[in-house]
Amino acid sequence: MNILVIGTGYVGLVTGACLAEMGNHVTCIDNDKIKIKELKKIKLPIYEPGLEEIVKTNIHSNRLEFAVKIPSYISENTIIFIAVGTPSDNEGNADMSYVYQVAKDIGKKIDNYCVVVNKSTVPVGTGEKVEALVLEEIKKRNLKFDFDVVSNPEFLKEGDAIKDFNFPDRIIVGSESKKANQLLDHLYAPFSKKKSKIIFMSRRDSEMTKYAANSMLATKISFMNEISQICELTGVDIENVRKGIGSDSRIGYSFIYPGCGFGGSCFPKDLKALIQTAKNNSFNPVLLDSVQDRNIKQKKILFTKITSIFGQNLTGKTFSVWGLSFKPGTDDVREATSIIIIKSIIEKGGFINAYDPFATSNAKKEFNANQLEKIKFFNNEYEALINSNALVLITEWAQFRQPNFEMIIDHLKEPIIIDGRNQYDPIYLKSVGIDYFGIGRSNVKILNKN
Ligand code: NAD
Repeated sequence: MNILVIGTGYVGLVTGACLAEMGNHVTCIDNDKIKIKELKKIKLPIYEPGLEEIVKTNIHSNRLEFAVKIPSYISENTIIFIAVGTPSDNEGNADMSYVYQVAKDIGKKIDNYCVVVNKSTVPVGTGEKVEALVLEEIKKRNLKFDFDVVSNPEFLKEGDAIKDFNFPDRIIVGSESKKANQLLDHLYAPFSKKKSKIIFMSRRDSEMTKYAANSMLATKISFMNEISQICELTGVDIENVRKGIGSDSRIGYSFIYPGCGFGGSCFPKDLKALIQTAKNNSFNPVLLDSVQDRNIKQKKILFTKITSIFGQNLTGKTFSVWGLSFKPGTDDVREATSIIIIKSIIEKGGFINAYDPFATSNAKKEFNANQLEKIKFFNNEYEALINSNALVLITEWAQFRQPNFEMIIDHLKEPIIIDGRNQYDPIYLKSVGIDYFGIGRSNVKILNKN
């Protein structure tokens, strides 16, 4: 099949590469000229495990191309994916300007039946607006032909994106057009071989499904984070509670890890956008508001622990930060907790020795020149410990899970670990002489009543 993917970021590039891998002809389009120039040379703008190999193979097989503009001829039945960003605007609504611009660009180019598929996460009703914008442009050219606009939200996780795309739990197709549904059924058949993964529904239902899914996952995390705070105040180890409740098949183990708050390009902004959708419809979403509030507080918890241990004035103190990306497996630092903690430490006079296996260059862009003067970035996690007063673990990259504690003790000025992801065993650490501070662990002496 002939595919265009407009927006070649985390979602667009993975979608394009995986569809090309199945034998389709895909053109990935992005208005960032540098990105496209580099992609043509197989230099990927993002880190995503396994992606480079697929891009390489499919470029060499002439199934995957890159362009800065939508081609002037688009053949009949082409499937055109919109995969541009939908960041938060000042009020928390999804900023739809990129999606609408692309809709207009498509309307200016198509001149026979195509299916426009919205993969970006968009508020309910966007499908109708995209359809109107495409139609307006077609009418301006005095043309008349059918086209369809479908909602097909993406559920991949950064760090596992290839696996998630190739082996999805479900593929949501929001459309009432028989023709469009048949084309998408055909397109996704290779991903749905073992058992049918496609769930057809209306466009609006599909748009809401994406927001509901992300908000549900965010709710599970915030719920556990809230319980972890109560655990700290009551001498309970949240890790035992997690195992105890995860074993209940109605609850399950996924997304109940307590930690120092969720970040990334999706959960925070999608939660905000759903809250705004509710408010725009005169509904007060008390639960979603609380999920968001808990997360904002949770992102400050490690800093509260640091000031409880070292005092409010951190002048002359250095903190070794392990992990800058918002989660392991990605170089994405959008809404990452690391950025908030680092800025707070610097504001109180402290210094940072930071290490991340992939996210350093993205993280550097998040700080101003004054802040950057206070941060040293290292190529090795153990070197980042030297002369530091404590280790602060923020992102649970696999290589941090079983570190050499002897080296940690040896390199740190004081044997203190503040563990934002509950990676370490407090009893073992105590036995080797490390002062350990986790999230909601029974042995934590520093209580956060926030
Ligand atoms: P991204 O910022 O990584 O990529 C978006 C790309 O679109 C950029 O490369 C940008 O240059 C390009 N772009 C913007 N305007 C354009 C235009 N007019 N023409 C061509 N290209 C244009 O974004 P992303 O993380 O891939 O997210 C895209 C959408 O998918 C968002 O709505 C997001 O919420 C959703 N989503 C993201 C993830 C994820 O894990 N990142 C998962 C599921 C859904």
